[in-house]
Amino acid sequence: MYKVEYITDIEKIEGPSYDEKKRLKEITEHYPFRANSYYLSLIDWNDLDDPIRKIVIPAEEELTAWGRIDASNESEYMVVSGCEHKYRDTAILLATQVCGCYCRFCFRKRLFIKGSQREAPADLSEAISYISSTPSINNVLITGGDGLILSTKRLKKIIEALNNIDHVRVIRIGSKLLAFNPYRVLNDPGLCEMLSQYSRPNKQIYIMTHFNHPKEITDVSMRAIELIKRSGVVLSNQTPLLKGINDDPQILGDLFNILSYHGIPPYYVFINRPVIGNKEFSIPLVEAYRIFERARSMGSGLSKRARLAMSHSTGKIELAAIVDNELILRYQRFVKFTDMSKVFKIPADADIYWLDDDLAPMRF
Ligand code: SF4
Repeated sequence: MYKVEYITDIEKIEGPSYDEKKRLKEITEHYPFRANSYYLSLIDWNDLDDPIRKIVIPAEEELTAWGRIDASNESEYMVVSGCEHKYRDTAILLATQVCGCYCRFCFRKRLFIKGSQREAPADLSEAISYISSTPSINNVLITGGDGLILSTKRLKKIIEALNNIDHVRVIRIGSKLLAFNPYRVLNDPGLCEMLSQYSRPNKQIYIMTHFNHPKEITDVSMRAIELIKRSGVVLSNQTPLLKGINDDPQILGDLFNILSYHGIPPYYVFINRPVIGNKEFSIPLVEAYRIFERARSMGSGLSKRARLAMSHSTGKIELAAIVDNELILRYQRFVKFTDMSKVFKIPADADIYWLDDDLAPMRF
């Protein structure tokens, strides 16, 4: 059994020079570092642009002033401890504040930074009661943090509780562990046994994977994916579009294709939210749309299911088209009923990265 070691002190990793580690240590005082021996082994340390390196190793640009701590106002939708309820039919369970590694572009780094509030309680009973007493909720996303970082025993307890609620028909687990540490699956046969026990007709379990780059799809991750698939769980991939990591249409198209060959069709591709520390990964909306469309044109039919969207405080807003120098936007998910299927447009200008809470373009 390959034992994966977790590392939270950047000075303890091999790869960067002594001086570089000293500089990076300062960044980790602001935005913590966490990685593991498996994921670090994928880095080519001779390549400064290695995508895995960019995902997990701090960079000095993180200290550039930019964005907000909670760009989508997630905390506004926290209805009880550990439960966000933004869309009528969907609840988010914040079950943990830990991930297999910490992505440098994380949109929820408010959960990890020093002095952060505890948003994922040890006891989720209040959240489960809320879901149980809200019949409009038919699907629940277990996330945080990473849903699969939970022990199988704890995950089972949560899934069992959700399974006992008649109106909950879909249970989703948000996880990047199949990329970060597929040994979580390979070393614990009890996990897939538990998943197959609870993934039943009319009560489907999904794992929302988080592969950002084809380099993360290794033989080891493929073995873990096959085991998960055999347990009856359906997989689907979400990724942000990230400058320097997957903003090449060929790379994004390859990611779509390779995942779909292995039974993981792409779902949402997200615009990177303007969250503190994320500037280096950000791409203007118009450029993002063009990259995404070219990538989709290279993909198989299944990969065309991907949608490019902003996870905005008012809903999921799809970047649908560029027509006559205007970017056409459409609500896929909405908070206010009046926004259902609403289509609107903004100038297709190269300096717009996001929309503020009143939908005015944010230029940087
Ligand atoms: S896996 Fe998700 S929640 Fe965890 S660090 Fe990465 S982006 Fe953040």
